[in-house]
Amino acid sequence: MVHETGYYDLLGVSPKASMDEIKKAYRKLALKYHPDKNPNEGEKFKLISQAYEVVSDPKKRDLYDQGGEQAIKEGGMNSGASPMDIFDMFFGGGGRMQRERRGKNVVHQLAVTLEEMYNGSTRKLGLQKNVICEKCDGYGGKKGALEKCSNCKGRGVQIRVQQLGPGMIQQIQSMCPDCQGQGEKFNSKDRCKNCNGHKVERKKKILEVHIDKGMKDGQKITFHGEGDQEPGLEPGDVIIVLDQKEHPRFQRQGNDLIMKMDIKLAEALCGFRKTIQTLDNRMLIVSTKPGEVIKHNDIKFVQNEGMPIHRDPYERGMLIVQFQVEFPENHWLPEHLMFQLERLLPPREDVMITDDMEEVDLCEVDLNSQQKRYHGEAYEEDEERPRGGVQCQTQ
Ligand SMILES: [Zn+2]
Ligand SMILES: [Zn+2]
Repeated sequence: MVHETGYYDLLGVSPKASMDEIKKAYRKLALKYHPDKNPNEGEKFKLISQAYEVVSDPKKRDLYDQGGEQAIKEGGMNSGASPMDIFDMFFGGGGRMQRERRGKNVVHQLAVTLEEMYNGSTRKLGLQKNVICEKCDGYGGKKGALEKCSNCKGRGVQIRVQQLGPGMIQQIQSMCPDCQGQGEKFNSKDRCKNCNGHKVERKKKILEVHIDKGMKDGQKITFHGEGDQEPGLEPGDVIIVLDQKEHPRFQRQGNDLIMKMDIKLAEALCGFRKTIQTLDNRMLIVSTKPGEVIKHNDIKFVQNEGMPIHRDPYERGMLIVQFQVEFPENHWLPEHLMFQLERLLPPREDVMITDDMEEVDLCEVDLNSQQKRYHGEAYEEDEERPRGGVQCQTQ
């Protein structure tokens, strides 16, 4: 039994969510609230990471489900991993050690259709990134013309004294704005005009993302060394995370595709021949065997018509078809013809009615309304036609 659901609520999933659902929820939220993209949502990013850390670990999740946040704290289950560590672990950003000599990895989500994952596709992605300035080779100005910053006297920081009250002062240390904390700078005539002394310039880079047949939601495509460039640092990677869009007809489950097929009652009882349009626009014909009856919610599958297997695209999963039988509306068949239909159907069950039994009304449940209201139809033995929309009568 689940008592506390705060962590699930943060991730926007149900307490019964599968690991896949949890990962997907974290992926979306973490990318949305990552400080690179949303600098004002640091707290939210932290909370999401904490929630994910607990809920993604079966042991911790168990403990949380039983005793809530309190149990996690008391159980010493806090790993002390920072939100960034969790993020990097999830998106494969390398460890802290690596990060010191390398620039940051950048993670982007790319929305792709199921058709693209089925057929494979190439997408062009335009990204803005910092590259080493071509004009000054990342030096920032004329070689040898770097001077000690006069504003901070080479310290890179400036200290401001603020009077808080009588006899109370506070020292505020901040990065020197003149030299951006470098301690040295070019005077305006020696500064590189192209990058304004920043050593890097913003450039648009087009990445070609190859989506292979059978790639999955959440799959990562890494472009090594395509992150922001910075003098003296090896650039980080650009990591593209695929985000599969919902499809109007097919749901994907691993390598299988699931679809619903509506069939009429006549088709369910007397058979059918129907077509299915595949994700590569072929038409499949499916039909029932002679005499076969399809029941509501029956499931059948077509072999090798699911999603292609990644790196083995000639193999495919199953196409699973769930049948939904559409029953006719009331009054579809004139009363005087009903006996003909009944003759064809399996016989009704005979029920023994005795005098000591009590006749009650079958009322209709309106599941849409918040308070369950009951609309009833008082059936008489010989009354075939229900009177719709009548409040349930007590007799
Ligand atoms: Zn300075
Ligand atoms: Zn430059």
